[in-house]
Amino acid sequence: MKAFYAEEQKRHDPKAFLSSGAAQPNPEKPERVERLLAGALSAGCTIERPRDHELGPVSAVHTPEYLDFLEHIYTRWQRIEGASAEVIPNIHPIARNGSYPASAVGQAGYHMADTACPISGETWQSALWSAWSAVDAAEAVTSGAPAAYALCRPPGHHAFADVAGGFCFINNSAVAAQVLRRTASRVAILDVDLHHGNGTQGIFYMRPDVLTVSLHADPVRFYPFFWGHADERGEGPGLGYNFNLPLPRKSADAAFLAALEVAFQRIRAFSPDALVVALGLDAFEGDPFGGLSVSTPGFSRIGEAIAKLGLPTVIVQEGGYLCDELGDNLTAFLTGFGGKTR
Ligand SMILES: [Zn+2]
Repeated sequence: MKAFYAEEQKRHDPKAFLSSGAAQPNPEKPERVERLLAGALSAGCTIERPRDHELGPVSAVHTPEYLDFLEHIYTRWQRIEGASAEVIPNIHPIARNGSYPASAVGQAGYHMADTACPISGETWQSALWSAWSAVDAAEAVTSGAPAAYALCRPPGHHAFADVAGGFCFINNSAVAAQVLRRTASRVAILDVDLHHGNGTQGIFYMRPDVLTVSLHADPVRFYPFFWGHADERGEGPGLGYNFNLPLPRKSADAAFLAALEVAFQRIRAFSPDALVVALGLDAFEGDPFGGLSVSTPGFSRIGEAIAKLGLPTVIVQEGGYLCDELGDNLTAFLTGFGGKTR
């Protein structure tokens, strides 16, 4: 299977992170890339550098004002006397029905959901190349490859059309789905990350052409808290095209695979022409987030089960944090999916 990744994706190196109010090192570290690259190579992937696709495929799912913010906010922030080294919001609108602010501080609060996605001078380029990896993987599939893997880092599924959050800036899975829509009339996104794919849900919430399905730790007491509940089903023409499967904390392989079967029923009923897998590996039992308890062989079974859908598939890397097994978990998923044979 072809895998796509560019060195520029490693430059973003966020420092700040608050967990339950306490300052911690940011877990979305560049070292993740080394583990994931090793995992992809072990699964028999060939690594290719994506092309520069400019802003077209990214602006297909994000607003112009948000992309302008992401590109320029770091420089603007540095002009503020006494500003932090990274862009971190300290004020948010309680609802988004107010005015669009002109100031850098106001815009940071408007476009950033939390403190987990600090922006440095390298963030924009890393996020762009990450998205371009998703574009090339999707184009490989539209050109006839049965599957391709996008080693996207920074990840994307918490990014809405105009809001960053949870380590995410550009929604790579949404970008891939939109590229697939050039040739596919219906696309399904299956998000198996530990956390609900709230940004992806938000981007397609009103649309019937992209089905969004997410399996994740129950957000009733877990990030992203405000989204990911079973009663969020879509809106307007998108009603019925969003499907959430929250799982009890510490759910292990059997419960995850059982929920996956429920997800497959919905996906088969939708009859998509192509699939995006938002592949978080943080549902792993040894992941620092500790939300679910999927094992390494469990990821292999998840990959195998998804492959049986028989759909052209773009696998987009989402979460999965530093632990000894991170690379092995990717190898397990890709091998289960058929990485050695495709
Ligand atoms: Zn996650």
